[in-house]
This record gives sequence, C-alpha cells and structure tokens, in this order.
Amino acid sequence: MNKPVHALQTLFPVKDGCLQVGGIALSRLAQRVGRTPFFAYDRALLSARVAHLRAALPPELRLHYSIKANPMPALVQHMARLVDGLDVASAGELKCALDTGITAHDISFAGPGKTDAELSQALAAGVLIHLESASEMERLDRLAMAMGIAPQVVLRVNPDFELKSSGMKMAGGAKPFGIDAELVPALLQRMAALSMDFHGLQIFCGSQNLKAQAIVEAQSNTFRLAIELAEYAPRPLRLLNIGGGLGIPYFPGEVALDLSSISDNLRQWMPKVGAALPGVQVALESGRYLVGEAGIYVAKVIDRKISRGEVFLVTDGGMHHHLAASGNLGQVIRKNYPVAVGNKMSGSERESATVVGPLCTPLDVLAGQIELAKADVGDLIVVFQSGAYGLTASPNDFLSHAKPVEVLV
Ligand SMILES: *Cc1c(COP(=O)(O)O)cnc(C)c1O
Repeated sequence: MNKPVHALQTLFPVKDGCLQVGGIALSRLAQRVGRTPFFAYDRALLSARVAHLRAALPPELRLHYSIKANPMPALVQHMARLVDGLDVASAGELKCALDTGITAHDISFAGPGKTDAELSQALAAGVLIHLESASEMERLDRLAMAMGIAPQVVLRVNPDFELKSSGMKMAGGAKPFGIDAELVPALLQRMAALSMDFHGLQIFCGSQNLKAQAIVEAQSNTFRLAIELAEYAPRPLRLLNIGGGLGIPYFPGEVALDLSSISDNLRQWMPKVGAALPGVQVALESGRYLVGEAGIYVAKVIDRKISRGEVFLVTDGGMHHHLAASGNLGQVIRKNYPVAVGNKMSGSERESATVVGPLCTPLDVLAGQIELAKADVGDLIVVFQSGAYGLTASPNDFLSHAKPVEVLV
C-alpha cells in the first residue's frame, strides 16, 4: 500500500486540513480559478528551488532554464529573472523567451530539425544557435549570407560516453542529437572557413537522473571531451554548456538527488577548466529539477463508484492533461505519482481508491489503488510533482475536452 503522499508533500503546507498553494488554501484557489482541472505553480517554491541549486553550484557557473519543461509564459517570465539563460527548442519557445526581455545572447536554441524559418528567426533575433549536424551548419550559413547576419553558434556534441541510469538518454552511441564527437574536429575546421561567430560547445547527455555518481561521471567526461575538442576550435571557447540531467523523485522508494558530490566535483573542475579554456563560461541547463516540484495538478471528483469491490474516483482531469502521471501510454509498469485529496489532508477516514479521468480508455488513470482520504463528489484530487512536462507534454486534444487552466500563485 502506498503512503498517503510521500515526503515531497511537505513542500506545500497544510492548514486546517487543506493544502496551501502560494499561501492560499486550495479550496479558495479552486474558487478563484473558477473551474477545474487546473495546474498551479508556486512562485515562492520556484524561487527557493533556484536558490537551493545555486547555493550548491560554484558561483561562477551559469544556470539556464530549459523552457520545454514548462513554457507557461508567466512562469518563464518568473524564471527569466532568476537564471542566467533560457534554452529553447522551437520558434514558439524562442518567442516565449524573447518576450521576457532577456538578452538575446542569453538565449540558446538547440534541437534537431530546425526549419529554415526557425533558423531565420533565430538569426534575426541574434540568439545562440546550437548546431545539430553538418548539414544544418551549411543551411544556416546560406541563410545567414542571404540575410547579411553573422550567426552566433554553439556546436552540440554527441559524446562517445553516456549518462548512466538516466530516465532518458540523449547522448552516446547513434543519436539524432548533436554531432558525433569524432566528426567535430573536421566540422570546426570547416566552420573556420565560414563567417560564423563561434561561442562554444554543448554536451547534453540525458534527463531525469537521480544518481549523483552517474551525473558526476558524465560531467567529468564532458569537461575532458570539451578541453580535447577546444583545440580544434576556430577561436577560444566562450561558452561550455554541460547539460543537466538532474532528476526529481516521482515514485515510492525514489530518493531526492543529493547535490553534494555534484557540487564537490564541479568545484574541483572549475579552476582546471578555467586554466585549460581561459575566458570560458560554463553553463548548466535544467528544466525538470527547477520547476517539477513547484507545480500541482488539481482535478475535481465528478463521480464516485464501486466496481466489484474497488472504489473508483472519476475526475474531470486525466491523461490528456497529464500523460506522465497516467503512465505514458502504458509502456512502463504503472507507478503512482504522489496523489492526495487536497481539501482533506488530515483527520479524515481513509480508503484505497483508483483515481481515473473521463477518457474512454483504461489508460486514463491518475492513481491506481492508492490510499487516500475517503473522497466524495466535489473533492479536489491533487497530483504532486506536476510542474514539469505536464500540460504541454500531454495529448490535450484526445477526446476533445477543454484545456485546463494554468495559474502561477
Ligand atoms: C530537455 C532538455 C533539457 C532539460 O532537461 P531536464 O531533464 O528537464 O532538466 C536540457 N537541455 C536540452 C538540450 C534538452 O533537450
């Protein structure tokens, strides 16, 4: 049997049995929002998280926010004031980043398959363009010549090592991301013949990692590879983006990432990197770690039914808004995100229930046979750890229900 909600729940305080979000009782917040379901992101928790990570990192390290984790404009605006750079992966995210007023050089545009239109917009805006292939470099050169603008470029490297035990591996072996490390020297030589303003390298290995030792290893390998490749660069590196990969716990038994060994390793490397690559700025990019725990998804119980002895709470929210909590289309063994009845956080009778959404598919489950306060129609089901890869990473249009609201409180 799952615990009511695991330790993460302590991020959001409870008062008079009701969860508090941004200092407001959840039931009040639901009234203010006016409808369910909704995502709520807590400003104070976002700020505290950035401060927590910064305190662990060497002070000279740049911290970038990866917009794809959560592109809600108000949240991005909030994050833009706290971090040193924004990483984008589409024209839409580029617009979102530019709207914050952040300096163009502090925006990085990475991602495979950038279209001519996207490259042209990035050129016109003057943001850093992360090259993902030799042919993308040639295409960018042609567009830049036609527009009469020197592109600001970073080369994304697909290293010959990987980030072990990652939720998602983005590097090592054959990958659509970045340029294979062994091809980088020739590409840098070719770049010297083009009029491109070379800023540096990006090596991003993977996402959702909870093993500090694996991150430490990947970061050390990243620094070694970058120093090696820098010898072939047309000019000294100004930027080295070492990726991120910092994960957050979602499931029972998972433990929050311990930053101390990552911090120690980075502090050891920074002077060495400074000596080998004078003038370089090192950047760490993160999405999930910065925003994931600061957000909740809230759905209302529409129906309560018992089928052959099992309690089902049917809510107005589900996999179309929160694919990851539902189990990503059943490709993995389904585990429960931390879930609670937000308006009955203490003192209530408890029971085992399965929380489902309104979609006509058995995949639409927000929590399976989880211990919750006994819930009735109108109660508010809260899914924690929902600040990253929620709404925009879900099949919103499936079954044509209305889109949920997002609020920053
Ligand atoms: C997705 C992505 C990130 C952010 O990953 P998180 O796991 O959310 O921190 C950073 N860099 C690149 C290149 C990405 O594609």
